Amino acid sequence: MDSPKRPRAEAWLQYADELGLTPFFRDRASESAAIDPPLQSPAPASSPLGAAPQPPAAYSAAAAASTASPRHAPAPAAVPSRAAKPAAASPVVPASPGLSLFEAAERIEADSLPRIREDIGDCTRCKLHKSRTNIVFGVGNPKASLVFVGEGPGHDEDVQGEPFVGRAGKLLTQMIEAMSLRREDVYICNVVKCRPPENRLPERDEIATCSPFLFRQLDAISPKVICCLGACAAQTLLQTTQGISRFRGEWMDFRGSKLIATYHPAYLLRNPAAKPEVWKDLQKVMAVLGLQPRRR
Ligand code: SF4
Repeated sequence: MDSPKRPRAEAWLQYADELGLTPFFRDRASESAAIDPPLQSPAPASSPLGAAPQPPAAYSAAAAASTASPRHAPAPAAVPSRAAKPAAASPVVPASPGLSLFEAAERIEADSLPRIREDIGDCTRCKLHKSRTNIVFGVGNPKASLVFVGEGPGHDEDVQGEPFVGRAGKLLTQMIEAMSLRREDVYICNVVKCRPPENRLPERDEIATCSPFLFRQLDAISPKVICCLGACAAQTLLQTTQGISRFRGEWMDFRGSKLIATYHPAYLLRNPAAKPEVWKDLQKVMAVLGLQPRRR
């Protein structure tokens, strides 16, 4: 500031200081950096999610990306440890400022899971119907406090008509039980209800066509916590294109529920070194739900 104005500005600042109004000229950047992330849990001594090997000293994001399933792999830069994450990482930024898909989806008075299933019927609304064996609607407690959302059925799910029943499903069951819950205590569903061929990711038009049923399911259950398993579920509900590592483990609001995203169990099967990170996320969910870890 040029010198003729400086004494005048200093006088105003001193006047404001005497009135207790100093926050208005604080450096906002340093202030936001000082905000603690919500619901931080202490790092666990170990993960109860099965055999989580000690991360090798040379473990790196590049190594993780090279072994990840293409369907469930985070973006290449998406596997950093939380320690490597910027301290003031912002929560997810919606892709557009307009209504979210969820808000845009019509809310149906007194909706219920049986009614939603009935409305789906023998659905042919998108091309995924052509190769499916069964529609995989969802399973669990219709009044659950906790809902897990994956991306879509795989082979075993398609055959059995139930979500998360293959190897990844068994790991999800272990995760649920480690939280002192039973599978039937929670609700489990997917973004799309029919299996994408060759286990590929659901495509944009398929997600757009099927996800209103997911929104209705979440609306009907109205859980306290929604846990998104993998990027597809999180990006669909949050209407973002950001990689999951940008917001994994952070709490966000979703239409009255608390939403958190973590890695998909199929990703953990290929990258067991990520299990402790997922356990930290689940501990945050447990803190909100007032759960204690299962005694082993
Ligand atoms: Fe219908 Fe959803 Fe199956 Fe597509 S994925 S056919 S919209 S139930």
